[in-house]
Formats: sequence, structure tokens, C-alpha cells
Amino acid sequence: MNHPLDLTVMMYHYIRDPGDAAEAGSGIPGMPVKTFESQLDELSKQNTFVTWLDVRAALQENRPLPNGACLLTFDDGVCDHYLNAFRILYQRKLSGLFFVMDRSESDGFILAHRIHFLLAKLGLPGLRDAIWERLNPLQREQFTQAEKKYQLKYPPISLDGQINLLKAVLQRDLSSDVNQILRELFEIHIGPEIELAQNYYLNTDQIREMAAGGMHFGGHSRNHPWFDWIDAEARAAEIKASADWIRQFESGPWAFAYPYGGLSEDSPILLKEYGFAAAFTTRTQLRHPNPYYIGRLDGEEVAQNGQGYA
Ligand SMILES: [Zn+2]
Repeated sequence: MNHPLDLTVMMYHYIRDPGDAAEAGSGIPGMPVKTFESQLDELSKQNTFVTWLDVRAALQENRPLPNGACLLTFDDGVCDHYLNAFRILYQRKLSGLFFVMDRSESDGFILAHRIHFLLAKLGLPGLRDAIWERLNPLQREQFTQAEKKYQLKYPPISLDGQINLLKAVLQRDLSSDVNQILRELFEIHIGPEIELAQNYYLNTDQIREMAAGGMHFGGHSRNHPWFDWIDAEARAAEIKASADWIRQFESGPWAFAYPYGGLSEDSPILLKEYGFAAAFTTRTQLRHPNPYYIGRLDGEEVAQNGQGYA
């Protein structure tokens, strides 16, 4: 590509209302369905919605995008996307790009989602205490060091800051240690993990139905790790797993979204090698000089802050 891509990319995660089929009594909050719909109304006033295929043609064949081009993206392959987002997009004859992990039915939850359930159930101090109780002295030392390290990036001065700080510690430095602990806490406080995960993530029938309805799918790794935390070999394995999985639903080259928006310098080369033509970050950005670092706006933040989209 010779020039930066001018493109507004919206990013969504949970789209649900308390008590609906997606939320399913979990207490995990998301963007209310009505807020999502009114955001689409707002966006349509100033933007022209484009599909992943339009963006790919712009990147690969230099085909121009319309002025105010806007792409809708959805991360993590949660059931909200079938139950709520797909229904709304289909009615409006819009397409979304859905980044889905390669999960099999016996995998259970990724770490991040296990944390969401437990936070909703136990609250922040409750979850932190329950984990701390189960750590050995060496792990407690690692926990304390990691907390110190991330305090600048996630100042624990608000509840959100405190939650992000705990997440960083658990999803990075302690990720391999707390996996089993969180599995145990999940079974005690929430229920049978494997069974719940089967309804929580999109299954292959739902993905096929969404694809037949004009939706597109991209890779989001297998285990959802921070790419700047794992090593190059693990990154390659995550990207390869994504490619092997996605080829059953979507013809390449494909799109990829970095888990947690975590970046590493070798990712573009690896992604290209395994058949991905673009990758999406969580950076806020509207012009994109590098197709492997495309920025996005968080739909929920935009809705809360009432900022313009253009
Ligand atoms: Zn994700």
C-alpha cells in the first residue's frame, strides 16, 4: 500500500442487556443493545459502512474506499455477536468483521473471560483475596512485584484502574500459575466451566449462519495471550492455529486482531507468512500507514464519552 488508509474502525466486545440470553444471569456488563443501535444510527449519518472485503481490496489492490469509510469489528467470538449483533446488522443489511478464537468444545474459557465471570460474582477485593489465599510464597512475591511494575500504567486510583491492574498481573506475569486456580474458583462459584463455555462462544453452526448472512470472520489467536508477553515460537503457534481454524469459514487472505491489543515487532512478518493481510490493534487511530497496525475506536468508550466518530 502506498498511502495511509483512511478508515474508521469500530471495535465491540459484549453487546447485551441484563437478563437477556447473552448475559444469561452472569452479571457481566456490556454495551446495551439500544446503545449499539443508536451508535449505528449516528455512525450512518457521517459514514459509509464498508465490509472486510472492501478494506482488503483497498489494501491489496489500492481500490479506493468511500469517504468516511467505517468498518464494524467484534472481538472474542462471544454469543452476544450471534444473539444481538448479527440480528441487528442483518436487519440493516450491514456486514461485521468478527474476530474469533480457535476454541474447541472441550477447551473451556480463556483466562480473560474466567476473570470476567469471577469479578462479576466475587467483586474485585473478593477475587483478589481468593487468588491470594491460593498462591504459594514465591507466587505471592511475583504477584507483588508485578503489581508494582504495572502501577504506573494502570494507576489503582479508581475501581477501573484497580481492575485493570489485577487483570495485567493475572493475564501476564501470573498467567500460567493462576490458570488452575481460576479454574477451581470457577467451578466453586460459577459452575461447570466446559458446559458454560459451549454456550458462551459462537459454535460452528452459528458462524456458518452468520457467514451466510454476509458476516466475515478473522483470527484472534487460540489462547488469547498478550503477544508482547509470550515468545516468538508461541506467537507463531498462536497465529498458525488461527489460520488453520479460520480457513474453514472464510477464504483468505484474512484479518487478525491482536489479543488485548498486545503488539510485538515480529507479528506482521508472522501474520503475512500464515496468510493474514491485515491486523487490528486497540490503538485509537483513524489513518493507518501500516496494514498490520490498524487502529480502532472502542464503541463503548465512544458511547460513554459522546465523542464524534469522524
Ligand atoms: Zn480479545
